[in-house]
Amino acid sequence: MTASKLSAVLVGAVVAAHAAPGPPVIDPALRPLTVGVMLKFEQKPPSGFVKRLGTAVREIFRPSGLDVRLEVFDNNLRPKEYNRAVVVEMRGACPMVPPDLGPSNQPDRATLGFTRIQEGEVIPFSMVDCEQLVRIVQGVRAQTPNRLFLYTAYWNAMGRVMAHELMHMLLRTADHRETDCLRSPVRAGDLQFSARLNPAEIAALRQIGDPRVSAAASRDKAEAKGNTGPSRRGRGEQFVFSTFVAGDDSGPR
Ligand SMILES: [Zn+2]
Repeated sequence: MTASKLSAVLVGAVVAAHAAPGPPVIDPALRPLTVGVMLKFEQKPPSGFVKRLGTAVREIFRPSGLDVRLEVFDNNLRPKEYNRAVVVEMRGACPMVPPDLGPSNQPDRATLGFTRIQEGEVIPFSMVDCEQLVRIVQGVRAQTPNRLFLYTAYWNAMGRVMAHELMHMLLRTADHRETDCLRSPVRAGDLQFSARLNPAEIAALRQIGDPRVSAAASRDKAEAKGNTGPSRRGRGEQFVFSTFVAGDDSGPR
């Protein structure tokens, strides 16, 4: 190859490199809205727990188009940038799968989680109680011969409660409805299925990126960044509880 031919090849290669398609440029308005879920664990979770939880939560929120990302909150690290940020305190030990106790006493009633309300407004702080989730799933397992049920029911319950509290925080509502994600109390039968958003909920979640609600969103971010502790006790603070009630679906909710 002559020197001039070689330089022609090199120039060609450089041109080709420049012409190669880079990452596609996406209009920021079309990018999915990011939701950062900062998890504060009371006890260090087993490896794989956060990843499994993320799968459960993203699966439920997929139809909304929201990009939900879970992050373990670390006081020493700056949280990443998200369009919306919420804090979820994970209470008690959160196993990958609850120990199978066989026949055991099941609680008739349990509080699985709550979201905080301050001065009449839903704020981006929730609690999910792993210990109670384990207890109710063990109780329901005692009624079924299927051992696999324990794992499935536990993750169905975990996804459901996380989604429930996220719905309160993202839609800034304390209301409960008869839908999978906004139902409280949940019952044993609900643990057989993973929760699904209904069309009205999907539509409502798609609107949280609307500039008209961005004032509320930036307040969320400021609050989530400024205070991640469970100890804040403001005046007028209340909670909206997510509960479990044993028994079939025929009773009053
Ligand atoms: Zn609720």
